[in-house]
Amino acid sequence: MNIGLFGGTFDPIHRGHIALARAALERCNLTRIHFVPVGMHPLKGAQPMATYFDRYAMVALATQGKKAFVPSLLEAPEVDSSQKSGKERAPNFSIDTVRKLKQTLKKIDRLFFLVGIDAFKDIAKWHEPEALLRECTFIVASRPGFSLADVANSLPESLRPSSAVTKPFQRQPAKGDLVLSGVTIHLLDSVNQAVSATAIRQAVAAKRPLGKLLDSKVEEYIKKRGFYGGRGEK
Ligand code: ATP
Repeated sequence: MNIGLFGGTFDPIHRGHIALARAALERCNLTRIHFVPVGMHPLKGAQPMATYFDRYAMVALATQGKKAFVPSLLEAPEVDSSQKSGKERAPNFSIDTVRKLKQTLKKIDRLFFLVGIDAFKDIAKWHEPEALLRECTFIVASRPGFSLADVANSLPESLRPSSAVTKPFQRQPAKGDLVLSGVTIHLLDSVNQAVSATAIRQAVAAKRPLGKLLDSKVEEYIKKRGFYGGRGEK
């Protein structure tokens, strides 16, 4: 089976995340996608506004009724006994989460790692990037304001193809697959959602309507809990 892993802060989960997952599901014939709210992000400076469990709850609400979308507790503090509480918690590295998920899969299963181009641009700074890229097949999705032509040049130096290979990617719209030794990256150029969690948090704080930026059940949850500067029960 083809299994997807989609990690994110999901603070909150929104229409862009769902569009990315849907496109990946179809393109790579995935049987299911595990949505993994990040426990402690190793790179993002500011930590999430909503707690881990609230972000997980929003992921559960947004994936409700979508059979192939599975909310995952892989980075939950309680599940990972090596984690300490509060500020002392160690960061969650994708490579560890991938290896943990792989332990639950069969040998013949293939794992796909879903990520947007904005996040992929930092891949060389991630923990053990080469190992991660070899451990699973990557699906990198387009996002307004970013270019998929940057995929090859974002790779860690040891994997970066020569400019002779990457140049054609820069001249024409990047699509298709990038296959290097032991590394496969599918480029998903059909995702075109100008939405971000930051913009949603700002809209909630400013009491602006959220329209269709996110699932109505998630919006209701945000209101009830009074997140992001909106009113509600605390
Ligand atoms: P924030 O605005 O707080 O930085 P975000 O909207 O980027 O959040 P994350 O939860 O940080 O959302 O993103 C998780 C993953 O989803 C990342 O791989 C990111 O690239 C991808 N992603 C998020 N929004 C979009 C979008 N609109 N289009 C394509 N990919 C997206």
